[in-house]
Amino acid sequence: MTDTAESDLVVIGAGPGGYAAAFLAADKGMKVILVDAGPRPGGTCLNVGCIPSKALLHAAKLITDARDAKPLGVEFAPPKIDVNGVRTHWMKVVDTMSKNLAFLCKARKVDFVSGVGKFLDGQTVQVNDTAYRFQHCIIATGSVPTRPAAFFTGNPRVMDSTGALKLEDVPPRLLVVGGGYIGLEMGYVYAALGSKVTVVELTEGLLPGVDRDLVQPLHKRLETLFDKIYLRTKVVKLEEAKGGIKAVLEGPEVEDKEPVFERVLVAVGRQPNSRDLGLEKAGVAVDDKGFLKVNEQRRTSAEKIFAIGDVAGEPMLAHKATYEGKIAAEVILGEKAVYDVRAVPAVVFTDPEIAWCGLTETEAKKQKREVKRVKFNWLASGRAMTLARTEGVTKLVIDPETERILGVGIVGVDAGEMIAEAMLAIEMSATAKDLALTMHAHPTLSETLYEAAEDFYGMATHKAPSKKG
Ligand code: FAD
Ligand code: NAD
Repeated sequence: MTDTAESDLVVIGAGPGGYAAAFLAADKGMKVILVDAGPRPGGTCLNVGCIPSKALLHAAKLITDARDAKPLGVEFAPPKIDVNGVRTHWMKVVDTMSKNLAFLCKARKVDFVSGVGKFLDGQTVQVNDTAYRFQHCIIATGSVPTRPAAFFTGNPRVMDSTGALKLEDVPPRLLVVGGGYIGLEMGYVYAALGSKVTVVELTEGLLPGVDRDLVQPLHKRLETLFDKIYLRTKVVKLEEAKGGIKAVLEGPEVEDKEPVFERVLVAVGRQPNSRDLGLEKAGVAVDDKGFLKVNEQRRTSAEKIFAIGDVAGEPMLAHKATYEGKIAAEVILGEKAVYDVRAVPAVVFTDPEIAWCGLTETEAKKQKREVKRVKFNWLASGRAMTLARTEGVTKLVIDPETERILGVGIVGVDAGEMIAEAMLAIEMSATAKDLALTMHAHPTLSETLYEAAEDFYGMATHKAPSKKG
């Protein structure tokens, strides 16, 4: 038997997009139902994404920092790794954070319902035995890993990102298919823990789309951590072999064309989670990739239904989901809100990190847009010297006429923390002069941002003046 319930807002999906929208709507007085297929709020990001991977990356960085400390006069014995302990750490973090979210739901009187949501029509969602009628609905069902059928034939040695986070063991040899965000972050984790990691990337460079001068220092360091990095290479087949998986590889630099690995991580992208939602019954249109079509207010083709986060389009990043969630909630509340950002920050949490926002050099070239690019090399940063990590680069992409900062790219230790200042500069229409005239604490890596800005005027304190004068 089906019960019925009424609400102002039903949010389907309790990831960083869904719960942020639900919380804001509840704070402003709405009766909100937050639905998730999982047992607790948090979504991909908290349960099997951002947070577990960053906890693992922190452990990995401790290991590589300790290994690299010898030139600083500090030598450690090789680490003893308790895989269960490493896994338990991230699980405890996730557990604490999801309990906090459950508490925040209660504190706001957001009704969290665990169950799969499916539209019955444009104003009703069925969850378990209840049909929830809503004034408005936000779809925030996120995304799932792309699992090519040829690779996932049921062998547990072949993992997606969720499998890799479980850290069931540290395989002697790990094949990573895909040199994108997940391939490099998780490859770094397993390499630090002791696996011999081979990365196979289909295109001609790691992290396709990211400026090459930012990727280069990371690639160089990964060459010292990974066993092999094969570019322009295809995994033709994965086959069961004695004690592992045989990978048939095709690429210009592949020597052993049929190597065997104890485990394989397939990280070739993610897909919007828009199937089986009953969207046709609700009149919600999807594009040819399965993303929900939305306008600048995150309204779908159905009047009362909004969509946000990974399911509503690229980039598939948690902070973009949260931002969009708040916009959709504000629109539903009758406020004049639109998604109108100048930049979305992106961070690859390897070591070194790569972070960028706004216009990239690659994109400027594609658009044939005239820009001035200035770079500050971390060899000239006192802070980078003290850390013995001078491989970093800070780059600004500037409009030559208005001198406005259009984009920023950073590779180096803590680049992910530094990008916040760049975001503010872009959102506030700061010019290179604004950045150059802002005092930065010494010695910090953030000084590289203002020195890069000074370089726009040919006057970076720690850089020789340009010969051109
Ligand atoms: P999600 O977080 O995917 O949440 C969607 C929720 O909807 C899920 O809980 C799902 O169970 C639920 N759901 C789906 N269908 C239904 C249904 N029919 N009924 C009820 N519930 C349903 N991004 C970053 O910004 N930084 C990072 O460091 C980062 N690291 C990542 C690491 C990994 C390994 C992975 C896989 C992803 C990472 N991401 C990162 C991406 C990030 O996780 C996503 O961009 C983000 O979670 C998207 O948020 P969302 O709210 O759109 O959806
Ligand atoms: P991705 O798009 O970042 O990278 C996939 C890579 O696989 C690409 O380099 C692509 O060229 C390559 N590829 C595709 N097919 C291939 C094949 N058959 N053989 C070899 N290489 C192949 O995807 P991902 O790493 O799976 O991550 C998915 C998404 O999750 C990211 O795009 C990002 O939006 C999000 N994410 C973000 C973070 C972060 O913010 N730090 C971390 C993890 C994931």
